[in-house]
Amino acid sequence: MGSVSEASHPRVAMVGMASENCTFSQARTTLADFEVLRGEDLRKKRYPFLSEDGFGGVVFLPLVHARALPGGMITEETYSQIEETLLGALQEVLPVEAVYLDLHGAMHVEGRQDAEADLVAAIRERVGADCLLGASMDLHGNVSASLVAQVDLFSAYRTAPHIDEEATRAKGCRMLAESLREGWTLERSWVPIPVLLPGEMTSTLDEPGASLYAGLAEFDDLPGLLDVSLWVGYVWADTPRAHAAVVVTAREGSGTDPAAIAETVAQRYWDAREAFRFNVPAGPLSEVLEKAIGESVKPVVVSDSGDNPTAGGVGNLPFALRAVAGRSVYRDGQKHALIVGIWDPEAVAQCTAAGVDAEILLVIGRHADGRHSKPFEARVTVKHFFDHDPVAGRQVVIQIGKGIHAVLTERRKPFHHFPDFHVLGLKPEEMDLVVVKIGYLVTDLQKLAAKAFLALTPGAVNQHATEVTYHEIERPMFPFERDFEWHPRAVRFGIDS
Ligand SMILES: [Zn+2]
Repeated sequence: MGSVSEASHPRVAMVGMASENCTFSQARTTLADFEVLRGEDLRKKRYPFLSEDGFGGVVFLPLVHARALPGGMITEETYSQIEETLLGALQEVLPVEAVYLDLHGAMHVEGRQDAEADLVAAIRERVGADCLLGASMDLHGNVSASLVAQVDLFSAYRTAPHIDEEATRAKGCRMLAESLREGWTLERSWVPIPVLLPGEMTSTLDEPGASLYAGLAEFDDLPGLLDVSLWVGYVWADTPRAHAAVVVTAREGSGTDPAAIAETVAQRYWDAREAFRFNVPAGPLSEVLEKAIGESVKPVVVSDSGDNPTAGGVGNLPFALRAVAGRSVYRDGQKHALIVGIWDPEAVAQCTAAGVDAEILLVIGRHADGRHSKPFEARVTVKHFFDHDPVAGRQVVIQIGKGIHAVLTERRKPFHHFPDFHVLGLKPEEMDLVVVKIGYLVTDLQKLAAKAFLALTPGAVNQHATEVTYHEIERPMFPFERDFEWHPRAVRFGIDS
């Protein structure tokens, strides 16, 4: 790297800030929640592909990337500090010919309408109007006109659950490199779609998401076309930019019209709107538990979806634990249930004070949002502790009655992979019922589940989106309104008038 021959090559600064923030959550995301990667570390972890073919003739400079687990809104102070860090790092390498923006798209900051657009505006101000900006994003991002006006090149995931994160970043970088090498002038078209659905209904493993996303590939080889991105948007944000959207990027003068393609894709999404549904049986928790108890196969895996920390939920509600403990079939040990993981540092401390094998009266969820769930008080046995998880902090396994085990954590932690259970000595595959705070099941949990249900539980990311009260989203918006007409109309950017 850094050879003499690279001295004349165009340079691309790489910066990013990524988080998915629920505006309905009482929790706040602060600096301590962010993992910050820099320089070589950042290159290795997020951009290992840069050493492959297709990125030559351009010097990529990984600077800083800050990323947080989904959660409540980011505080203004935290946002400003990270923005300052990014701009400071950028300042040191100016001038650059391009900036690669490694974003999520559903970042929501207290007091700001459009955090990604604000961040890009601050960067644009430093780098000037001629600098090429390219962004990679999650398809659960909320994409505004203001963002599209400022960014020249987009690439968004085409899979959910996401398995093309790195491929999407590579595509974004490759397009930037190629555009710089060839000196292309780009244009793009944006179509906002008045549809706002949760990720659990728009998985690309199920129809109609599967066909809609697979269908994007049919445009990929058109002459001059760089990218077709389709966002389903992020449903748990009460903001005017929360809706589905399409952006198509093409080379100016190539004969391929990005507006026409964007309108075609948007029309297809609109036409499919009534067909989106949950991919597993869904219902209120009481109903789901009734069905789970009746199942002869095991384990039955139930998603406690309203309190899913990877969608922006807090992960501290004892709602599901209370419901399971209320069923004698589990309490008496006729069936065995495991409920993971409830974030409650105070209950963990109380268990710690009591020690292993102690039987105590424990209040779980004392500080949880009372709107969604009352605290749950129960006589529990402290089974054991585990201290070696960097995400969860101290974890404690407790037992209620004969057949119920639950995990409480000191810090927020999703339980989405086999090792999350196994390090605690838990064997979810031997359980009759496993309740996880998640939406659609990720690969390990799909493998685990002999049968799966989605429980429409209360919480900050309530899957019953139509029960959530919005004030700021554009109206009409499907599925909040169902009886209205709509026709896609592309907005063009990047063409000098
Ligand atoms: Zn996502």
